[in-house]
Amino acid sequence: MKTLREMLAEAQQSEVAIGHFNISDLTGLKAVFESARALDVPVIVGLSEGERAFMGVREAAASVKVLRQDYDYPIFLNADHTHSLASAEDAARAGFDSIVFDRSELPFAQNVSETKRAVEALKAINPAILIEGKIGEIGTGSEIHEEAPQGLMLTTTEEAKEFAAATGIDILAPAVGNTHGLSRSMIRGEAQKRLDIDRIAEIRKGTGLFMTLHGASGTNDDDLSRAIQAGITEIHINTEVRLAWRRGLEAAMVSDPDQVVPYKLLPAAVDAMKQVVSARLLLFNGRSKRA
Ligand SMILES: [Zn+2]
Repeated sequence: MKTLREMLAEAQQSEVAIGHFNISDLTGLKAVFESARALDVPVIVGLSEGERAFMGVREAAASVKVLRQDYDYPIFLNADHTHSLASAEDAARAGFDSIVFDRSELPFAQNVSETKRAVEALKAINPAILIEGKIGEIGTGSEIHEEAPQGLMLTTTEEAKEFAAATGIDILAPAVGNTHGLSRSMIRGEAQKRLDIDRIAEIRKGTGLFMTLHGASGTNDDDLSRAIQAGITEIHINTEVRLAWRRGLEAAMVSDPDQVVPYKLLPAAVDAMKQVVSARLLLFNGRSKRA
């Protein structure tokens, strides 16, 4: 079985990106795994601190490990947006493949020193683990927002180079027009996120690191394809999947009001999530046109 580092290197080589989808439970995991498997592409499952608190750090690690081993399948596990070293260490000890250590809310110099310390501590637990650092602003939660956030600070190539060299991270999460969550106008299909492709290419050239695009829900498809060509190797989709989950579950409950058997209602949520995940995986793997 190839490691996540090897899979990211392959993705970079072939100008595709590995899809990363957040889950809160086994329903989400089932949707992500079945979608990836049907297309035969590698996939990353992510859990933020909130999602890990709900599902359990070790429970999530065990569930993904079972799929990886039983199906001999390249499914990987990421600890998304981790704001403290203690919770990052928990994830590393549980066997997560990568950790997004996110102290980007701090002033730059403090973000550098805390991320550097985290890289050292986490690689001492598992030398093969990949650590992702984040700089710049991409807004708050993967939820529905009234308005898209405005005036966010984008990552500059200079600070990206400095951050990469000073911290020893493996993956960089830049702010290049991406934002967490979906605005109401995006949900209505009246607006899309647009990416700064030149900035992505410049940061990639300047750092030589793998790069993750966070908050990609609601982004223009062409921009996503061009971002991958410019050096993005991993793309995070969360809010679109959450929205599909809610709509799928709601529709099932409305159409069968007396149903109380979870496994008879939940497949509708799984199917709704799979539609989103499959479409995104096709696009990220350059197969949207041939599908
Ligand atoms: Zn994110």
